[in-house]
Amino acid sequence: MASHVVSSGQKPHVVCVPFPAQGHINPILQVAKLLHAKGFHVTFVNTVYNHNRLLRSRGPNALDGLHSFRFESIPDGLPETNKAATQDVPSLCEATMKNCLAPFKELLRRINSRGDVPPVSCIVADGVMSFTLDAAEELGVPEVLFWTPSACGFLAYLHFYGFIEKGLSPLKDESCLTKEHLDTKIDWIPSMRNLRLNDIPSFIRATNPDDIMLNFFVHEAERAKRASAIILNTFDDLEHDVIQSIQSLIPQVYSTGPLHLLVNREIEEDSELGRIATNLWREDTECLDWLDTKSRNSVVYVNFGSITVMSAQQLVEFAWGLASTKKDFLWVIRPDIVAGDAAVVPPEFLIETADRRMLASWCPQEKVLSHPAIGGFLTHSGWNSTLESLCGGVPMVCWPFFAEQQTNCKYCCDEWEVGIEIGGDVKRDEVEAAVRELMDGEKGKKMREKAEEWRRLAEEAAYGSSELNFQMVVNKVLLGQQKT
Ligand code: UDP
Repeated sequence: MASHVVSSGQKPHVVCVPFPAQGHINPILQVAKLLHAKGFHVTFVNTVYNHNRLLRSRGPNALDGLHSFRFESIPDGLPETNKAATQDVPSLCEATMKNCLAPFKELLRRINSRGDVPPVSCIVADGVMSFTLDAAEELGVPEVLFWTPSACGFLAYLHFYGFIEKGLSPLKDESCLTKEHLDTKIDWIPSMRNLRLNDIPSFIRATNPDDIMLNFFVHEAERAKRASAIILNTFDDLEHDVIQSIQSLIPQVYSTGPLHLLVNREIEEDSELGRIATNLWREDTECLDWLDTKSRNSVVYVNFGSITVMSAQQLVEFAWGLASTKKDFLWVIRPDIVAGDAAVVPPEFLIETADRRMLASWCPQEKVLSHPAIGGFLTHSGWNSTLESLCGGVPMVCWPFFAEQQTNCKYCCDEWEVGIEIGGDVKRDEVEAAVRELMDGEKGKKMREKAEEWRRLAEEAAYGSSELNFQMVVNKVLLGQQKT
């Protein structure tokens, strides 16, 4: 595959295909921007649904881009009635896997029959959009898969088949979801230490052999080996052993993160390229002005990402837990964060915390996490959030929701020493105690020092190992200069 060579004088043309969720679109956009800055023509392919959402949240011209950075869309095949639920991840996975190949191939054909753009010379697609490999192989162009989770999460996915072979997954039935069973030691994944079954990505704890997510990840992890190269949004110092363990299974794996630092380094924020953004919710930037009025490390930032849903009671527990800390806090409450309900916090809570909180429905998170006023992050441990927090030197209270967030949480707490975990069935006292420890406790202080160390190492990677790896993938694979 890597023998495809872009002919001289012709601009290379990369087609970038994210999985249709915010935490996947953002990092692939970062790759797309870096490639554009290196001289590539970029076509960025969203689903029709997300394309229209972006137009609504960012305005009708938002996706006009640059002449050499174009947005296209393909249908995901889901019925319109299912569209409100962006959190319906199983439906999205099943739909993209089954429905997207044909329209994607048709899109490539259309692009290549246009005279005004260079022919497609390579593809960068999300690791869980592996149908794109079939199109790349048919077209005879190299494809880089971008697995957007942590390396520890990816390694666990690569070993999913082992859980099935050992009879550990699927679970016999719901009665296996006891603490005792979830504490089952997992000590056979090379480089992963002191893991319990509960630390493995949530899909492993399926109770049905036909579970969509369990089967989807086994399928996608198996196909990953076919990619010309795989990039990960992490850096060597952070996940060295895990990355090596992955490379023993798939040698063509490269750590190229934190990508947002590479982007910040290379691309002016208010250049035309820098301004291209893909947030699906309208961003509230007022919170940055509010943070400017606060002293260093004094504010707790609370955000559970783009997919997490919780019960109305859990929202209330978080609210009263936060109120009891007496700390200033910025809490981003996505309008659809409570399943089947409007997200409503108690009016008494609003009165009691009026002078020390800011609520928003979506914020510029990367900027928030690098703001000096932020002292701690109450997070769902999504990988982008975790990485952005490390890059801001911000320690975390972790409330993992699903997927590899449990694994990220485990690594944050035990390996990187920047996290405190709180239980799934969240209680206000637990929130209060963990946030107090995070902001004012001895452990919190140590975690902040450690996070600061990771921040420094992340910066170094962006100017060192990750930048070199990224350039190597560009030269050897995307420009097809030689085999990896
Ligand atoms: N994000 C944001 N503003 C918000 C919430 C999230 O910009 O108010 C961004 C965040 O910076 C990250 C992504 O959305 O890049 C969320 O990805 P993550 O992997 O943390 O979680 P997911 O949403 O996939 O669960």
